[in-house]
Amino acid sequence: QDSPPWRDFDRSVVYAADLESALHYLFRVELASHSSLEGDELQTFKDLVTLLAKLYPGGGAVVKLMETLSDWLLSLPLQKIPYQAVLDLVDNKMKISGVFLGAELRWVGCQGSAPGFRGYPCALWTLFHVLAARRHAAPSSLRHTALEAEPAPVLSVMRRYIRTFFGCEECGRNFEKAASSDGAAGISTPEQEVMWLWNQHNEVNDRLAGSLSDDPLFPKGAWPPPTLCASCHEENRGLHAFNQQEVLSFLLRHYGEDNLSRRYAV
Ligand code: FAD
Repeated sequence: QDSPPWRDFDRSVVYAADLESALHYLFRVELASHSSLEGDELQTFKDLVTLLAKLYPGGGAVVKLMETLSDWLLSLPLQKIPYQAVLDLVDNKMKISGVFLGAELRWVGCQGSAPGFRGYPCALWTLFHVLAARRHAAPSSLRHTALEAEPAPVLSVMRRYIRTFFGCEECGRNFEKAASSDGAAGISTPEQEVMWLWNQHNEVNDRLAGSLSDDPLFPKGAWPPPTLCASCHEENRGLHAFNQQEVLSFLLRHYGEDNLSRRYAV
């Protein structure tokens, strides 16, 4: 498999091309292995679409697509829906104006130094960090939806999505174990949700650092490094520590709407 051309990028920026490529993969590849959706799978799918319709940044063609999907799912009295019907909507077979999801993988901040590294898992993490930051910025955006009463709606949907659909089953088991034992049940504010995801992602980085899946050009480690956020780091009795308040401010800025670049996006 030929590597795509290298795309220059800035590690301090989040790229819409990564988020849209992740959604393309999620809707057209990962979900395609389920010929129909019902029961818990259907509920998780509906909740994911609601989350995306309400929290995906930019208000562009992707949001319009998620709103269309969400309206369609809510209007359906069916207990079981064929995947093909979802795909027809994602491909906008009805030609609704302004609705669109690019149909190619265009990794930018998530490109790997060789095929097999990074890509989708990187962009899926990025997507959920962005959604968590967006919920912090717009806490009432899930009002009047099925997710309104959830204390940690982004994490709840992420957990169920990863467990039910994510192609890496071991990742699903590990993430579920962490979420059920690591204080996720005590989350009650958007800040806590943002910080829990950050902390959990660092636990995974720590576990995977130096493993075969670790791209040598993007070695895993505690994130953000001082080059991205010097004030996030401090020393506590001679030991390195993260300054949680600075980390929170950094995460909200880094994953916020103003730091999302459309460079390379379709
Ligand atoms: P990633 O870890 O994917 O990170 C993507 C980007 O997020 C980074 O480039 C950086 O910009 C940013 N980032 C890094 N750390 C943080 C942080 N702490 N907070 C916020 N942003 C950060 N693989 C396994 O082998 N075993 C597992 O158990 C496993 N569990 C996973 C669980 C989930 C929920 C997901 C989405 C993926 C999991 N993976 C697992 C895949 C693995 O975590 C990486 O996504 C993959 O190896 C690609 O790594 P990466 O170098 O692109 O960086």
